[in-house]
Amino acid sequence: MSTIAFLGLGQMGSLMAANLLEAGHDVVVWNRSPDKAEALRSRGASVGATPAAAADRADAVLTMLTDPAALEQVVFGEDGVAETIRPGAALIDLSTVGPGPIRDVAARLPAGIDVLDAPVRGSIDKARSATLGIVVGGTDDAFARWRSVLEAIGTPVHIGELGTGQTAKIVNNVAVITSMALVGEAVALAERLGLARAEAFDLLEQTYIGDAVRYVRARMEPRDFAPRFKADLAWKDLRLALEGDASASSLRTVAAAASWYEDVAALGLGGLDFTIVAAVAVGERPSPDGSDGSTG
Ligand code: NAP
Repeated sequence: MSTIAFLGLGQMGSLMAANLLEAGHDVVVWNRSPDKAEALRSRGASVGATPAAAADRADAVLTMLTDPAALEQVVFGEDGVAETIRPGAALIDLSTVGPGPIRDVAARLPAGIDVLDAPVRGSIDKARSATLGIVVGGTDDAFARWRSVLEAIGTPVHIGELGTGQTAKIVNNVAVITSMALVGEAVALAERLGLARAEAFDLLEQTYIGDAVRYVRARMEPRDFAPRFKADLAWKDLRLALEGDASASSLRTVAAAASWYEDVAALGLGGLDFTIVAAVAVGERPSPDGSDGSTG
C-alpha cells in the first residue's frame, strides 16, 4: 500500500479519495475549501494544510481539479506540490485539462518524477462504486508502477505517451457534451412545429442517439438538474477542444454547442447538471438555486 496525497475534493474527488482509503492506502487529503476534507478525516484520512504539506511524504500525488488554471495553482502556486514532491514519486492528474497543460506541468517539474495524465470516464455513480474508466497517458514504466493505485478507483487503460489520456478524454467528451445540446435543439424544433415533447422523445429514442435522448429525458421530465457533471465543466471541455486544436475551425458543431453552454452560464445555470443545456434550448429558464424544484 502507498501513501497517497489526494488534492481536490469536489463532487468526484471526494468519492475517489474515499475509495483509495477503502483500498487500504494511507491517504492525505487537501482541498481549497477546507470544510470538504472533514468527512474524509472522519473516515481515516490525514488532512494537509497546503498542497505542499500533503505532497511532502507522498509516494503518489493525485489531483482532481476543475481546469488547467487550478492545476497550475495547486502544482506551481504558493505552497504548491512542486515545492515538496519527492524524486521517485508520481504526479497523477485525474482532472480534464487537455493534453497541453499536463505536458507543460511535466516539463517544469524536476527530473525523476513520474507524471501520468489519467482523466476519468463516468460520473459520480461510477466514482462512488470505483468503476470509473481511466484513460492514461505516460511511459510504460510509469503506468506499470502506478496502475494498482488507479485500480482502487476504476479500470485504467494505457493509451500511449503523456497527454494521450487527455486527448482520448476530450474526444470522448466533445461527442457526449455536444449531443446534449443537439437533443435540446431537436426537441425545441419538434415543439415549435406542433409535436408534443413526449412524442418527440419517443421518436428520438429510436434513433442512433437514443442513449443521449434517454439520458436527457430522465432529467428533463422530472426537472432534476442537480449537478452530476456541471454545465460549466462541460463548457470548459468544449473550450479545451476548441482552443487546443490547431484546426478548430473544423469543429463547427462543437462551437455551436459551446454557444449553448455559454448561454447556460450567462443565465447563472452553469452550476446545474449539463443536461440543463437541453432545457435551455427548449426555452425553459429553471431557477439557478433549485428553488423551483429544478434540482430534484
Ligand atoms: P467540482 O465538484 O467542481 O470540484 C472541483 C475541485 O477543484 C474542487 O475541489 C475545487 O475546490 C477545486 N478547485 C477549483 N479551482 C481551484 C483552484 N484555483 N485552486 C485549488 N483548487 C481548485 O468538479 P468535479 O465534478 O469533481 O470535476 C473535477 C474534474 O473532473 C473536472 O476537470 C471535470 O471536468 C472532471 N470530470 C468530472 C466528471 C463529473 O461527472 N462530475 C466526470 C469526469 C471528469 P473548492 O472545493 O475549494 O471549490
